[in-house]
Amino acid sequence: SKFTLSLPKIELHAHLNGSIRRSTLSHLAALRNVDPSTTRILSHIPSTLSEAFDVFRIIHSCVVTLADVERIAYEIGEDMEEDGVVYAEIRSTPRDMGEGDLEGYVKAVLRGFDRYRLEKGKVILRLLLSIDRAKHTASDSYEIVSLAAKFRSQGVIGIDLSGDPTKGDFGTYLPALTHARSLGLKITLHAGEVLNPTEFSSMLDFHPDRFGHCCFVDPPNLARLTESSIPIELCLTSNLLSNSIPTGKLTDHHFGIHHNAKSEGSTICCISTDDSGVFGSPLSNEYRLVMDSFGLGEREVFELARRTLDATFLESQSGKNADEATGKDSEDRK
Ligand code: 5GP
Repeated sequence: SKFTLSLPKIELHAHLNGSIRRSTLSHLAALRNVDPSTTRILSHIPSTLSEAFDVFRIIHSCVVTLADVERIAYEIGEDMEEDGVVYAEIRSTPRDMGEGDLEGYVKAVLRGFDRYRLEKGKVILRLLLSIDRAKHTASDSYEIVSLAAKFRSQGVIGIDLSGDPTKGDFGTYLPALTHARSLGLKITLHAGEVLNPTEFSSMLDFHPDRFGHCCFVDPPNLARLTESSIPIELCLTSNLLSNSIPTGKLTDHHFGIHHNAKSEGSTICCISTDDSGVFGSPLSNEYRLVMDSFGLGEREVFELARRTLDATFLESQSGKNADEATGKDSEDRK
Protein backbone atom coordinates (compact mmCIF):
# COMPACT_ATOMS: atom_id res chain seq x y z
CA SER A 1 0.00 0.00 0.00
CA LYS A 2 1.02 3.61 -0.49
CA PHE A 3 1.17 4.23 3.25
CA THR A 4 3.52 1.37 4.12
CA LEU A 5 5.63 2.14 1.05
CA SER A 6 6.10 5.78 2.11
CA LEU A 7 6.60 4.88 5.77
CA PRO A 8 10.32 5.24 6.65
CA LYS A 9 11.25 1.67 7.55
CA ILE A 10 14.09 -0.06 9.35
CA GLU A 11 15.04 -3.60 8.28
CA LEU A 12 16.84 -5.63 10.96
CA HIS A 13 16.49 -9.22 9.75
CA ALA A 14 17.47 -9.81 6.12
CA HIS A 15 19.89 -12.46 4.86
CA LEU A 16 22.03 -11.23 1.97
CA ASN A 17 21.71 -14.28 -0.30
CA GLY A 18 18.05 -14.78 0.64
CA SER A 19 17.39 -11.19 -0.44
CA ILE A 20 18.76 -11.72 -3.95
CA ARG A 21 16.66 -10.20 -6.74
CA ARG A 22 14.81 -12.95 -8.64
CA SER A 23 15.98 -11.56 -12.00
CA THR A 24 19.60 -11.61 -10.76
CA LEU A 25 19.18 -15.18 -9.54
CA SER A 26 17.80 -16.28 -12.94
CA HIS A 27 20.64 -14.46 -14.67
CA LEU A 28 23.32 -16.07 -12.49
CA ALA A 29 21.69 -19.52 -12.76
CA ALA A 30 21.85 -19.34 -16.56
CA LEU A 31 25.42 -18.04 -16.45
CA ARG A 32 26.55 -20.87 -14.16
CA ASN A 33 24.61 -23.58 -15.97
CA VAL A 34 22.73 -24.55 -12.86
CA ASP A 35 20.70 -27.69 -13.59
CA PRO A 36 17.36 -26.71 -15.17
CA SER A 37 15.51 -29.21 -12.97
CA THR A 38 16.59 -27.23 -9.91
CA THR A 39 15.75 -23.88 -11.46
CA ARG A 40 12.10 -24.82 -11.10
CA ILE A 41 12.67 -24.05 -7.43
CA LEU A 42 13.58 -20.53 -8.49
CA SER A 43 10.08 -19.83 -9.69
CA HIS A 44 8.47 -21.77 -6.88
CA ILE A 45 8.07 -20.41 -3.35
CA PRO A 46 9.10 -22.86 -0.57
CA SER A 47 6.41 -24.31 1.67
CA THR A 48 8.48 -25.69 4.55
CA LEU A 49 11.59 -24.51 6.37
CA SER A 50 13.60 -27.43 4.98
CA GLU A 51 12.52 -26.49 1.44
CA ALA A 52 13.75 -22.97 2.14
CA PHE A 53 17.16 -24.44 3.00
CA ASP A 54 17.15 -26.30 -0.35
CA VAL A 55 16.60 -22.93 -2.02
CA PHE A 56 19.58 -21.41 -0.17
CA ARG A 57 21.77 -24.25 -1.45
CA ILE A 58 20.71 -23.47 -5.01
CA ILE A 59 21.27 -19.75 -4.54
CA HIS A 60 24.76 -20.52 -3.23
CA SER A 61 25.47 -22.64 -6.31
CA CYS A 62 24.59 -19.63 -8.49
CA VAL A 63 26.40 -16.99 -6.41
CA VAL A 64 29.98 -18.18 -6.86
CA THR A 65 32.25 -15.18 -7.35
CA LEU A 66 33.11 -12.18 -5.20
CA ALA A 67 31.70 -9.99 -7.99
CA ASP A 68 28.35 -11.80 -7.59
CA VAL A 69 28.40 -11.10 -3.86
CA GLU A 70 29.22 -7.44 -4.44
CA ARG A 71 26.41 -7.20 -7.00
CA ILE A 72 23.81 -8.63 -4.58
CA ALA A 73 24.95 -6.25 -1.84
CA TYR A 74 24.65 -3.27 -4.21
CA GLU A 75 21.23 -4.34 -5.49
CA ILE A 76 19.89 -4.80 -1.96
CA GLY A 77 20.57 -1.08 -1.44
CA GLU A 78 18.68 -0.24 -4.63
CA ASP A 79 15.74 -2.52 -3.84
CA MET A 80 15.40 -1.27 -0.28
CA GLU A 81 15.57 2.35 -1.43
CA GLU A 82 12.73 1.68 -3.83
CA ASP A 83 10.75 0.10 -0.99
CA GLY A 84 11.18 3.06 1.37
CA VAL A 85 13.70 1.48 3.75
CA VAL A 86 15.95 4.07 5.40
CA TYR A 87 18.26 1.86 7.46
CA ALA A 88 19.11 -1.82 7.20
CA GLU A 89 21.28 -4.34 9.01
CA ILE A 90 21.97 -7.05 6.44
CA ARG A 91 23.41 -10.35 7.63
CA SER A 92 25.50 -12.80 5.68
CA THR A 93 27.50 -15.96 6.25
CA PRO A 94 31.08 -15.47 5.03
CA ARG A 95 31.94 -18.15 2.47
CA ASP A 96 35.27 -19.10 0.97
CA MET A 97 34.81 -18.23 -2.71
CA GLY A 98 37.98 -20.03 -3.74
CA GLU A 99 40.38 -17.43 -2.43
CA GLY A 100 41.17 -19.54 0.61
CA ASP A 101 39.87 -17.09 3.18
CA LEU A 102 36.66 -15.51 4.41
CA GLU A 103 37.97 -11.96 4.42
CA GLY A 104 37.47 -11.53 0.68
CA TYR A 105 33.78 -12.25 1.12
CA VAL A 106 33.30 -9.59 3.80
CA LYS A 107 35.22 -7.07 1.69
CA ALA A 108 33.03 -7.88 -1.34
CA VAL A 109 29.81 -7.21 0.60
CA LEU A 110 31.24 -3.95 1.96
CA ARG A 111 32.34 -2.94 -1.57
CA GLY A 112 28.77 -3.45 -2.77
CA PHE A 113 27.42 -1.34 0.09
CA ASP A 114 30.03 1.35 -0.59
CA ARG A 115 29.33 1.50 -4.29
CA TYR A 116 25.61 1.85 -3.50
CA ARG A 117 26.38 4.61 -0.99
CA LEU A 118 28.49 6.55 -3.48
CA GLU A 119 26.12 6.18 -6.44
CA LYS A 120 22.73 6.42 -4.71
CA GLY A 121 22.98 6.14 -0.97
CA LYS A 122 19.55 6.90 0.46
CA VAL A 123 19.61 3.74 2.58
CA ILE A 124 22.13 3.42 5.42
CA LEU A 125 23.52 -0.12 5.28
CA ARG A 126 25.32 -2.06 8.02
CA LEU A 127 26.52 -5.65 8.06
CA LEU A 128 26.17 -8.50 10.56
CA LEU A 129 28.26 -11.63 10.07
CA SER A 130 26.39 -14.91 10.43
CA ILE A 131 27.63 -18.09 12.05
CA ASP A 132 25.98 -21.13 10.44
CA ARG A 133 25.03 -23.69 13.09
CA ALA A 134 24.75 -26.45 10.49
CA LYS A 135 28.22 -25.89 9.02
CA HIS A 136 30.57 -24.04 11.30
CA THR A 137 32.88 -25.41 13.99
CA ALA A 138 33.70 -23.57 17.21
CA SER A 139 36.95 -22.44 15.62
CA ASP A 140 35.12 -21.15 12.50
CA SER A 141 32.90 -19.10 14.78
CA TYR A 142 35.97 -17.46 16.36
CA GLU A 143 37.27 -16.63 12.88
CA ILE A 144 33.96 -14.94 12.01
CA VAL A 145 34.00 -12.95 15.24
CA SER A 146 37.58 -11.79 14.51
CA LEU A 147 36.53 -10.72 11.03
CA ALA A 148 33.62 -8.74 12.44
CA ALA A 149 35.98 -7.01 14.87
CA LYS A 150 38.48 -6.30 12.10
CA PHE A 151 35.89 -4.67 9.81
CA ARG A 152 34.01 -2.84 12.53
CA SER A 153 34.99 0.65 11.47
CA GLN A 154 33.92 -0.26 7.94
CA GLY A 155 30.33 -1.17 8.72
CA VAL A 156 30.24 -4.56 10.45
CA ILE A 157 28.39 -4.07 13.72
CA GLY A 158 27.38 -7.47 14.97
CA ILE A 159 27.08 -11.23 14.83
CA ASP A 160 24.13 -13.47 13.97
CA LEU A 161 23.61 -17.17 14.62
CA SER A 162 21.55 -18.81 11.89
CA GLY A 163 21.44 -21.88 9.65
CA ASP A 164 19.27 -25.00 9.82
CA PRO A 165 17.81 -25.03 13.37
CA THR A 166 17.50 -28.82 13.37
CA LYS A 167 21.28 -29.08 13.18
CA GLY A 168 24.18 -28.04 15.41
CA ASP A 169 24.22 -26.87 18.98
CA PHE A 170 24.10 -23.37 20.46
CA GLY A 171 26.68 -24.40 23.10
CA THR A 172 29.33 -24.86 20.40
CA TYR A 173 29.25 -21.12 19.65
CA LEU A 174 28.77 -19.76 23.16
CA PRO A 175 32.52 -19.12 23.76
CA ALA A 176 32.93 -17.18 20.49
CA LEU A 177 29.69 -15.25 21.09
CA THR A 178 30.83 -14.34 24.60
CA HIS A 179 34.13 -13.18 23.12
CA ALA A 180 32.24 -11.12 20.50
CA ARG A 181 30.31 -9.41 23.25
CA SER A 182 33.52 -8.60 25.14
CA LEU A 183 34.77 -6.91 21.95
CA GLY A 184 31.67 -4.70 21.95
CA LEU A 185 29.93 -6.45 19.04
CA LYS A 186 26.15 -6.82 19.23
CA ILE A 187 24.56 -10.24 18.90
CA THR A 188 21.30 -11.55 17.48
CA LEU A 189 20.27 -15.22 17.65
CA HIS A 190 17.81 -17.19 15.52
CA ALA A 191 15.73 -18.86 18.19
CA GLY A 192 12.63 -21.01 18.48
CA GLU A 193 12.32 -21.90 14.81
CA VAL A 194 11.68 -25.40 16.12
CA LEU A 195 10.58 -26.27 19.65
CA ASN A 196 13.70 -26.69 21.80
CA PRO A 197 13.09 -25.47 25.37
CA THR A 198 16.58 -26.38 26.61
CA GLU A 199 18.27 -24.42 23.87
CA PHE A 200 15.90 -21.48 24.18
CA SER A 201 16.58 -21.31 27.89
CA SER A 202 20.39 -21.31 27.31
CA MET A 203 19.94 -18.52 24.78
CA LEU A 204 17.96 -16.49 27.31
CA ASP A 205 20.74 -17.06 29.86
CA PHE A 206 23.16 -15.57 27.32
CA HIS A 207 20.84 -12.57 26.87
CA PRO A 208 21.49 -11.55 23.23
CA ASP A 209 20.81 -8.00 22.03
CA ARG A 210 18.01 -9.30 19.80
CA PHE A 211 16.26 -12.54 18.93
CA GLY A 212 15.06 -13.67 15.51
CA HIS A 213 11.74 -15.50 14.97
CA CYS A 214 10.78 -17.09 18.37
CA CYS A 215 7.92 -19.02 16.71
CA PHE A 216 7.95 -22.03 19.01
CA VAL A 217 8.51 -21.10 22.64
CA ASP A 218 7.25 -23.11 25.61
CA PRO A 219 5.29 -21.16 28.27
CA PRO A 220 8.07 -20.83 30.90
CA ASN A 221 10.54 -19.55 28.31
CA LEU A 222 7.88 -17.27 26.81
CA ALA A 223 7.38 -15.69 30.24
CA ARG A 224 11.15 -15.18 30.59
CA LEU A 225 11.36 -13.77 27.05
CA THR A 226 8.68 -11.17 27.77
CA GLU A 227 10.32 -10.30 31.08
CA SER A 228 13.72 -9.88 29.39
CA SER A 229 12.44 -7.13 27.04
CA ILE A 230 14.85 -8.37 24.37
CA PRO A 231 13.62 -7.07 20.97
CA ILE A 232 12.37 -9.71 18.51
CA GLU A 233 12.74 -9.70 14.74
CA LEU A 234 9.46 -11.00 13.28
CA CYS A 235 9.09 -12.23 9.71
CA LEU A 236 5.42 -12.91 8.95
CA THR A 237 5.54 -14.11 5.34
CA SER A 238 8.64 -16.21 5.94
CA ASN A 239 7.01 -17.92 8.92
CA LEU A 240 3.75 -18.42 7.03
CA LEU A 241 5.37 -19.91 3.94
CA SER A 242 7.80 -22.09 5.85
CA ASN A 243 4.90 -23.52 7.81
CA SER A 244 5.92 -22.02 11.18
CA ILE A 245 2.49 -20.68 12.14
CA PRO A 246 0.64 -23.77 13.47
CA THR A 247 -2.81 -22.68 12.21
CA GLY A 248 -1.46 -21.42 8.89
CA LYS A 249 -3.16 -18.06 9.43
CA LEU A 250 -1.31 -14.74 9.65
CA THR A 251 -3.83 -13.51 12.22
CA ASP A 252 -2.42 -16.19 14.56
CA HIS A 253 1.21 -15.10 14.11
CA HIS A 254 2.96 -14.56 17.46
CA PHE A 255 3.27 -10.85 16.66
CA GLY A 256 -0.13 -10.75 18.35
CA ILE A 257 1.34 -12.06 21.61
CA HIS A 258 4.26 -9.64 21.70
CA HIS A 259 2.66 -6.48 20.41
CA ASN A 260 0.73 -4.39 22.82
CA ALA A 261 0.35 -0.91 21.39
CA LYS A 262 -0.98 0.49 24.64
CA SER A 263 1.73 -0.68 27.02
CA GLU A 264 5.02 1.17 26.78
CA GLY A 265 7.12 -1.62 28.17
CA SER A 266 6.02 -4.20 25.60
CA THR A 267 8.60 -6.11 23.57
CA ILE A 268 9.94 -4.24 20.55
CA CYS A 269 8.70 -6.11 17.48
CA CYS A 270 11.01 -5.53 14.52
CA ILE A 271 8.97 -6.33 11.41
CA SER A 272 11.40 -7.88 8.92
CA THR A 273 11.56 -9.74 5.60
CA ASP A 274 14.07 -12.56 6.35
CA ASP A 275 14.56 -13.53 2.70
CA SER A 276 12.65 -11.18 0.40
CA GLY A 277 14.12 -12.87 -2.69
CA VAL A 278 13.01 -16.32 -1.61
CA PHE A 279 9.64 -15.43 -0.08
CA GLY A 280 8.84 -12.63 -2.51
CA SER A 281 7.69 -10.01 -0.01
CA PRO A 282 9.37 -6.61 0.50
CA LEU A 283 9.26 -4.82 3.88
CA SER A 284 6.45 -2.47 2.82
CA ASN A 285 4.32 -5.56 2.20
CA GLU A 286 5.24 -7.05 5.60
CA TYR A 287 4.02 -3.85 7.29
CA ARG A 288 0.84 -3.96 5.24
CA LEU A 289 0.25 -7.56 6.32
CA VAL A 290 0.70 -6.55 9.97
CA MET A 291 -1.83 -3.73 9.53
CA ASP A 292 -4.37 -5.97 7.85
CA SER A 293 -3.92 -9.04 10.07
CA PHE A 294 -3.96 -7.20 13.39
CA GLY A 295 -6.16 -4.23 12.57
CA LEU A 296 -3.56 -1.57 13.27
CA GLY A 297 -4.13 2.00 12.19
CA GLU A 298 -1.61 4.23 10.42
CA ARG A 299 -0.49 5.89 13.62
CA GLU A 300 0.09 2.54 15.35
CA VAL A 301 2.11 1.26 12.41
CA PHE A 302 4.18 4.44 12.40
CA GLU A 303 4.85 3.90 16.10
CA LEU A 304 5.74 0.23 15.48
CA ALA A 305 8.27 1.24 12.82
CA ARG A 306 9.68 4.03 15.01
CA ARG A 307 10.23 1.76 18.01
CA THR A 308 12.44 -0.46 15.85
CA LEU A 309 15.04 2.31 16.00
CA ASP A 310 15.63 1.42 19.66
CA ALA A 311 16.59 -2.11 18.64
CA THR A 312 19.26 -1.26 16.06
CA PHE A 313 22.88 -2.07 16.77
CA LEU A 314 23.96 1.53 16.13
CA GLU A 315 25.99 3.04 18.93
CA SER A 316 24.76 6.17 20.65
CA GLN A 317 27.29 8.88 21.42
CA SER A 318 27.84 7.72 24.97
CA GLY A 319 28.85 4.37 23.51
CA LYS A 320 25.74 2.80 24.95
CA ASN A 321 23.20 0.83 23.03
CA ALA A 322 20.50 3.09 21.61
CA ASP A 323 17.69 1.29 23.43
CA GLU A 324 19.44 1.49 26.78
CA ALA A 325 19.92 5.21 26.25
CA THR A 326 16.28 5.70 25.29
CA GLY A 327 15.07 3.62 28.20
CA LYS A 328 17.12 5.77 30.52
CA ASP A 329 15.72 8.99 29.08
CA SER A 330 12.15 7.87 29.58
CA GLU A 331 13.01 6.80 33.14
CA ASP A 332 14.37 10.31 33.76
CA ARG A 333 11.22 11.93 32.47
CA LYS A 334 9.00 9.97 34.83
P1 5GP B 1 23.70 -15.83 3.42
O1 5GP B 1 24.12 -15.94 4.84
O2 5GP B 1 24.38 -16.85 2.55
O3 5GP B 1 23.86 -14.44 2.86
O4 5GP B 1 22.12 -16.10 3.36
C1 5GP B 1 21.56 -17.40 3.30
C2 5GP B 1 21.75 -18.14 4.59
O5 5GP B 1 21.04 -17.49 5.65
C3 5GP B 1 21.19 -19.54 4.59
O6 5GP B 1 22.09 -20.47 4.06
C4 5GP B 1 20.91 -19.81 6.07
O7 5GP B 1 22.08 -20.20 6.74
C5 5GP B 1 20.53 -18.44 6.58
N1 5GP B 1 19.07 -18.28 6.63
C6 5GP B 1 18.27 -17.63 5.75
N2 5GP B 1 16.98 -17.69 6.13
C7 5GP B 1 16.93 -18.38 7.29
C8 5GP B 1 15.90 -18.75 8.18
O8 5GP B 1 14.69 -18.48 7.98
N3 5GP B 1 16.27 -19.46 9.28
C9 5GP B 1 17.56 -19.78 9.54
N4 5GP B 1 17.84 -20.44 10.66
N5 5GP B 1 18.57 -19.44 8.72
C10 5GP B 1 18.26 -18.75 7.60
